[in-house]
Amino acid sequence: MKFAKQLSLRSIPKWADDYINYKELKGKIKEQSAPTKVESFYAEKENEAKAKLTELQNRLWRKKIPSNVIPQPENIGNVHDCELSVYDSLDVNIFPWGAISRFWVTISEDGMGGPIKVPVIGVKQGPTVGITAALHGNELNGIPLIHRLFTEIKCSDLHGIVVAVPIANVPGYLCSQRGFSDGSDLNRLMPGKKNGTAAQVYAYHFMKRIVSKFNYLIDLHTASKGRMNSLYVRADMLDPLIIVHNKSPDGSLRGAAIQLGIPSITVEIGDPSKFQKRFVKNALIGVSNILCNLKMIPQEPDLPDFDPVVCARSYWIFSECGGILSVIPDVNTWVKRGEVIAFIHSVFGNLEKTYYAPEDGIIIGKSADPVCSTGSRVLHLGVVESEYARKTDDGHL
Ligand SMILES: [Zn+2]
Repeated sequence: MKFAKQLSLRSIPKWADDYINYKELKGKIKEQSAPTKVESFYAEKENEAKAKLTELQNRLWRKKIPSNVIPQPENIGNVHDCELSVYDSLDVNIFPWGAISRFWVTISEDGMGGPIKVPVIGVKQGPTVGITAALHGNELNGIPLIHRLFTEIKCSDLHGIVVAVPIANVPGYLCSQRGFSDGSDLNRLMPGKKNGTAAQVYAYHFMKRIVSKFNYLIDLHTASKGRMNSLYVRADMLDPLIIVHNKSPDGSLRGAAIQLGIPSITVEIGDPSKFQKRFVKNALIGVSNILCNLKMIPQEPDLPDFDPVVCARSYWIFSECGGILSVIPDVNTWVKRGEVIAFIHSVFGNLEKTYYAPEDGIIIGKSADPVCSTGSRVLHLGVVESEYARKTDDGHL
């Protein structure tokens, strides 16, 4: 009896009964060492926090004003530009999955009989978003935007193809000029002609060999020489993407792409012949938001602090006399009807003409050149209305 009492007081593990059954015993030990519900709950929370942090880092990176040195995307390699492959037209199927491809597409031939090639950068796979810059050869802000976008894209996360042509008008770019080598405006010649002038043939092949392969088009521009722009978007609001509702002018790349059923927008990013870091940064957020909305990158769109202003129409105010022009309001500011917007003085300093805002609106762009002849552009006014105008002409020439 005494012995039995002592035995019951001893702590005999319950599993002692199975002591001989090693297999079951092993299982029980494993069960005891497995993470508890509490532990796995915290592990899950930690992963969520890490994912949020990465997303936040990405957003902050996009918001950062770029430095002058553009970081090199990791998988671009060290092949010299001259040694990259040259193709007759864009074939999105040749892109390897999960890597950035760089190559040339031949568009036309120059006076030496040599090829005029445009540089193309692309990543795989799904719907194709095409981004073109410098179709006007001196409108450069789109170039660093494209470079930055390709350092940001994680190839393994991308669902879709991003194709960028950082310099669409190569002859114009080489001469630091807006037009083609003959001076004509490629953005008024689209879709070009197979048998036409040098610029028409270039436009034709640019459409056929590259743009026609896109599902969406983002065409990046800036103001023209002697003028300054805010950051704004031209779009046909029936395919809703903001800001200036504007049926594309005849011959524009956007108009020609829409004719092919490719939803397209034009983005005007600041001023010509320079890199403007803030504008590039904000436009980059816009471009990556488009990729987010198309579910091509696994991020939430980075919404702006303020809703963009949607203008039903916009137009340029032209000067009626020559002289020295001063435009008063800054771009991106509002003016009220009757407010003074510009003065023209004679070369002797007499006030020749005062311009007033013809109606309430927002300043989209303005002249940056004080030398003003009759018919010079003064100011680009955007007007907000509840109904979108059927036809608008904002005179982007
Ligand atoms: Zn342009």
